[in-house]
This record gives sequence, structure tokens and C-alpha cells, in this order.
Amino acid sequence: MEIKEIYELIENIGVFVFSTISGDEVHSRIAHFNGCDEEGIYFRTMINKPFGRQLIETGKVTVCGITDNKCLGYEENGTPSFPLSYTIRLIGDVKRVEPEVIKEKSKTNKALLSAANDIDKYPAMAEGNFVLYRAKGEVFDVDFDCIHRDHKLLRKRFSFGGISFNPAGVRITDACIGCGKCKEVCTFKAIEEGSPFKVREDRCDDCGSCLLACPVNAIKESLIF
Ligand code: SF4
Ligand code: SF4
Repeated sequence: MEIKEIYELIENIGVFVFSTISGDEVHSRIAHFNGCDEEGIYFRTMINKPFGRQLIETGKVTVCGITDNKCLGYEENGTPSFPLSYTIRLIGDVKRVEPEVIKEKSKTNKALLSAANDIDKYPAMAEGNFVLYRAKGEVFDVDFDCIHRDHKLLRKRFSFGGISFNPAGVRITDACIGCGKCKEVCTFKAIEEGSPFKVREDRCDDCGSCLLACPVNAIKESLIF
């Protein structure tokens, strides 16, 4: 996926939870991204705030967001109902962007205009423009009731800025004897027959049901992202 394509999905969500590290503690804040170009995805905060200081100190951030997820009600058996949604998460490296650079970029990039305007209006914000310049991430497009397709999850991983990532989903090894028990228990329709059977990384939710069902321990947990 191109950065622009990722940003379009991000814009549709709006506000994200940003998590940072301070010493041995993790912290979360609410913030939003405000533009992108070929160098990455931009956001801003006041650098005197703890969030800004942590970003400068570590250069690391992880971000997670979901489209409209208000509970629509409950079925008779108590199952909650949610609108169709997707989530995005990103893990990556950030760096500050000088105010003059933001101003210059905003001449041709309208999305950065409000950041450029804030530079003169809020001195404390002027130095707080950051770019997520190297990141990996994934989109979880969820349709648990299979309204628009015949499987519950569509999962896609991406990266930009020269970072790599492991494939998603659990892995079936050559120890597979082809009994089909994993396919029977997978409610995500993520397992295909073969020798050995195969897991579709774009559908697997890492739920682990197949690991418990396999009689010969042929299925291994997913690799850490
Ligand atoms: S349950 Fe295990 S042995 Fe059976 S098909 Fe699946 S991976 Fe292969
Ligand atoms: S981990 Fe869950 S979703 Fe993935 S293949 Fe196994 S049963 Fe299906």
C-alpha cells in the first residue's frame, strides 16, 4: 500500500490512540494525523507536553484506531451488535519537522495548511510537528455477520520507509497429516486444503482454535509482527 492510500484510511477514522514509552512505563494519548506526503504521515503536539517530550526522547510510537464502533444494541442471547468497521494499527519511528519545512510543504499540500497556520498562532505548537517516517502496520476489515462477503475478516499488512514485517496468521508445518480438523473449527474460513494444509494470512485472526484442534501439533503460533 502507498502512504497516500494508508492516509485515506486514517482520515476516515479521524482520532487515534497514540502510545509512547517513558522509562519502563507505557502511556496513551488521543491525537490525529494531519497530512501525508512521500516522506511519511504528519501529526503535531506541543513539545512541552509529556507526549511531545516522550516522542523526542524515544522517537518511537504505536498508533491504533477504529471507525465508528458504537454498540447498536444486543441480540436476545446477549451478543452485542456493532456497525461494519475497520481498525488500523501502526508501529514506527517519528522525528520532528522544522516549522519552515511545514510552511513550505503547505504551499502545495493543503492537508498541512492548518499546521502551517498554527505555527504563528501557537508558539508552543510551532516546534511540535512530527512525521511518522518509517512504519509497519495492518488493517483489520471486520464483517463478523458476513453481510458483504462470505468470511469475517480481511486483514492486510503494509510498511513504508524501508521497514519489513512478518506475515500475519498462524503457520501450518509439514507435520500436518491432512485430517481437516483445523478447517472444521476455523470460523474465519482461513484454512485451505493441501499438503500440508495452508492458512490464508489475509483471513486468519490468530484466534488459536486450530492450534487446540490439531492432533499432531502441526500448527505454530504467528510470528510477532
Ligand atoms: S488439524 Fe493439523 S494435521 Fe489436521 S489438517 Fe489441520 S494442520 Fe493438518
Ligand atoms: S488461528 Fe483462528 S482464524 Fe487463524 S486459521 Fe486458526 S482457527 Fe482460523
